[in-house]
Amino acid sequence: MILQKLSRIAFVLVLATASSSLVAQETFTIRLAETWGPNSPILGETPRNMAAMAEKMSGGRLKFRIDSSNKHKAPFGIFDLVKGGQYDMGHTASYYYKGSIPNAMYFTTVPFGMIAQEQYAWFYHGGGMELMEKVYRPHGLLSFPGGNTGNQMGGWFRDEIESVDDLDGLKMRTPGFAGEVMSELGVAVTNIPPGELYSALEKGTIDALEWVGPALDFNMGFHQIAKYYYSGWQEPGAEVQFLINKKTWDKLPAELQEILRVSMRTAAYDMYTQSTHESGVAWDRMKEDYPDVTHKTFPPEVIEALREATNKLLAEEAEKDELAREIINSQRDYLKQVRQWTNISDKAYLNSISGE
Ligand code: CA
Repeated sequence: MILQKLSRIAFVLVLATASSSLVAQETFTIRLAETWGPNSPILGETPRNMAAMAEKMSGGRLKFRIDSSNKHKAPFGIFDLVKGGQYDMGHTASYYYKGSIPNAMYFTTVPFGMIAQEQYAWFYHGGGMELMEKVYRPHGLLSFPGGNTGNQMGGWFRDEIESVDDLDGLKMRTPGFAGEVMSELGVAVTNIPPGELYSALEKGTIDALEWVGPALDFNMGFHQIAKYYYSGWQEPGAEVQFLINKKTWDKLPAELQEILRVSMRTAAYDMYTQSTHESGVAWDRMKEDYPDVTHKTFPPEVIEALREATNKLLAEEAEKDELAREIINSQRDYLKQVRQWTNISDKAYLNSISGE
C-alpha cells in the first residue's frame, strides 16, 4: 500500500518535471540570407526545404526567416553578412568569395575535377569537410554542403567553337576559376548578374555565356538567341553551401544542432535529385520545342588547352599558399583514386550501353 502510494507520487513527480522542462525549452529564430532572388527555382527552394524540415523535426523550436537578395541587396555578400552576424545563416556558393577568401573556391567545384557523387564522397569520407572547416573556422563560420546542380553545361554559344583560335577575343560570361582559365586562352571574361544575362547576349555585349544546365537555363531563354549548347568542363558538380555563424551554432543545444545538420544534409541531397529530374524534363522539352538547338561537345584540342590552363593556374595557387596546396592535393589525390571506380562502373556502364 505504502509502496503503491510512493510509486504514484514518483509518477506525478516525473510528469511534473517533464512538463516543466517542456515549458522551459527555448525556441530559436534563425535569420538566413540567400544569394538567390525571390522565388528562385531549385536554388531558392533548397533553404526553404531545409527550414521546413528543421522546424517540423524540432517541434517548432527552430524557426527561420529567409531573406532573398531583393531584401538584403547583397547577393554576393552573404559571406560578410553571416560573418558579421547580420544574419545567422546563408545559402550561397563558396566560389563567389574567392576575392576575399581565395581558398573557399575549391569547395564549390573545380574545372576537370570531381563529379557530384565523387565530390560528396570526398566531403564526407575523404577529408573534404575537415578542410572546409579549416578554411571557414578562422572567420567564425561553419560551412556545410548545400545542394548540387549536377554536371553543369559549358554554355550557350552564338557560333560554333571549332578550335582554340575561336576562343581568342570571344566575349563570354563565366564566373569563378573557370573564368580565369578562359582568360588564359584569350577569352574576354565578364561576370554579369543573372537578371541581365539575356539582354547582354541579345545585344551582343557577350557572344556566349554559361549559367547552369537545362533545369535553370530554359527559363532564361538563352536558346532563343544562341543555338549551340555545349557540354561542360568547368563545373562538373557545383555544390552550393549553407554558412552558419559559429556563435549562433554554439548557442543551440546539441539536439537542435543535430536537427539542423540533418536538415541541411537532406536538403542538399534533395537539391541534387531535383536538379537531375528537372534538367531531364527541361532538356526533353527543349529538344521538342526548339529543334534548331544543337548540342555540342568541345573538340579535344580545346579541352586539352583548357585542361593545361587549369593545371597551370592550380599549380600557381598551390605555390602561393600552404592551405591551398593542401586542398588542391587532397582533391587531386582523392579524384585519382575514386575515378578508377567511376571508370569501371558508371562510365563503363554508360559506354557499353551507349546509343540509348
Ligand atoms: Ca555555372
